[in-house]
Amino acid sequence: MPTNHQFRLAARPSGLPKRSDWKLTEEPVRDPGPGEVLVQALYISLDPAMRGWMNEGRTYIDPVEIGAVMRAYAGGRVVASQNPAFAVGDHVTGVLGAQEYALLDSAAAKGLNKVDTKLVPLPVYLSVLGLTGLTAYFGLLEVGQPKAGDTVVVSGAAGATGMVVGQIAKLKGCRAVGIAGGPEKCRFVTDLGFDACIDYKSENVIQALRKHCPNGINVYFDNVGGEILDAALANLARGARVVICGAISQYNSKEIQGPRNYLALLVQGARMEGFVVFNYAARYAEAAREMAGWLVAGKLKAKVDIVEGFQTFPETLLKLFRGENLGKLLIKVADE
Ligand code: NAP
Repeated sequence: MPTNHQFRLAARPSGLPKRSDWKLTEEPVRDPGPGEVLVQALYISLDPAMRGWMNEGRTYIDPVEIGAVMRAYAGGRVVASQNPAFAVGDHVTGVLGAQEYALLDSAAAKGLNKVDTKLVPLPVYLSVLGLTGLTAYFGLLEVGQPKAGDTVVVSGAAGATGMVVGQIAKLKGCRAVGIAGGPEKCRFVTDLGFDACIDYKSENVIQALRKHCPNGINVYFDNVGGEILDAALANLARGARVVICGAISQYNSKEIQGPRNYLALLVQGARMEGFVVFNYAARYAEAAREMAGWLVAGKLKAKVDIVEGFQTFPETLLKLFRGENLGKLLIKVADE
C-alpha cells in the first residue's frame, strides 16, 4: 500500500496564510473496510473560500479544526472499494481533502459524484461543471435575474467563477463587461466573448464603467468586494440587481471594508443579495446538464490553470490572492 501525504491546518492565519500555518503529514494508506471506498486524488481544487474555512467560528460551514486535514474539493480515481456503489477505476469528485488518498466511509461516500471522463476531462468537472461553474450559473440566473438586453458586469472576470458568469450572460442575450487585473487577463476575457473588460489595475473603474455601461449596470456580479464593489454601485441602472458572490479583496483583512456607496440602492430602487451555492444543491444535476450541453456545443469555454505537484499546495493557494491564476486553479496530484 502507498503512503498518503496530507496538508493539515497547523495554525489559524493572520493575513495571507504562511507556510507555518500548515503541517505536511504522512501516514500509510489502509485497505477499505466494509462500505468504505479509497480514492486517489488526481486534481485538487484551490478555492478562495479555503481562507475563510481556516478562520475560527462557523460561517455557512464549520471551520477546519486545527490539526485536521484541510477541507478541499478534488477529483480522483477509485483505487479500492468495499462499497457497492463504486468500482475500481471509477472517477469521482467531492470533498476529498488536501491529501493524496482519501478513505471515505459509506456516509461520506454518498457525497461523491461519479463522473465520466470519456465525455469531459476530469479538470472540467472541477471547473465549469463543478462548484465554480454552478456558482456562476445560480448566482447569475437565480439571484441576478438577467433579461436579454441587460448589461451584466462581473468582477474577477478572468477567474473560475467570473469567466462563466460573462459567458452565460452572453448566452442569455446580455451585454457582458468584465473587470480583471492586467492586460493579459482582459484579453482572455474579451476572447471569451465578453463585450469589454476593464483592467482595474491600470484604469479608473468608475469612469471605465461609465464608458462601457452608458445605460448603467443592470446586474453586477461581485466576486471581489472593496473598492470595485463601490465603483459598480456608483454606476447602477434603475432596478439593478447586485449579486454578492464573494469578496476576495477582503478575505485576508482583519477589518472588512463595507460598501460606501450603498445609498445607490435607494436612489436606483436596486437590490443587493448574497447567496451560497450549496443552497442550490438539489438542482446541481439539472444545471450541470445544461452547462455540459453548452460546452459540447462550443458555446461555453473552460479554462483551467493547472500547477503540478501536491507539495505546492500552500504556495499555490496564494496564487488566488495574488491574482496569479487564469481560469480555474487546480493542483495536479498524479497522472490519470
Ligand atoms: P478565481 O476568480 O479563479 O480567483 C481569484 C481571483 O480574484 C484572482 O485571480 C484575482 O484576479 C482576484 N483577486 C484576488 N485578489 C483581489 C483583490 N484584492 N482585488 C480584486 N481582485 C482580486 O476564484 P473563484 O474560485 O472563481 O472565486 C471567485 C469568488 O467567488 C471568490 O470571492 C469566492 O469566494 C467566491 N465564491 C463564492 C461562492 C458562493 O457560493 N457564494 C462559491 C464559489 C466561489 P485578478 O488578477 O483579476 O485580480
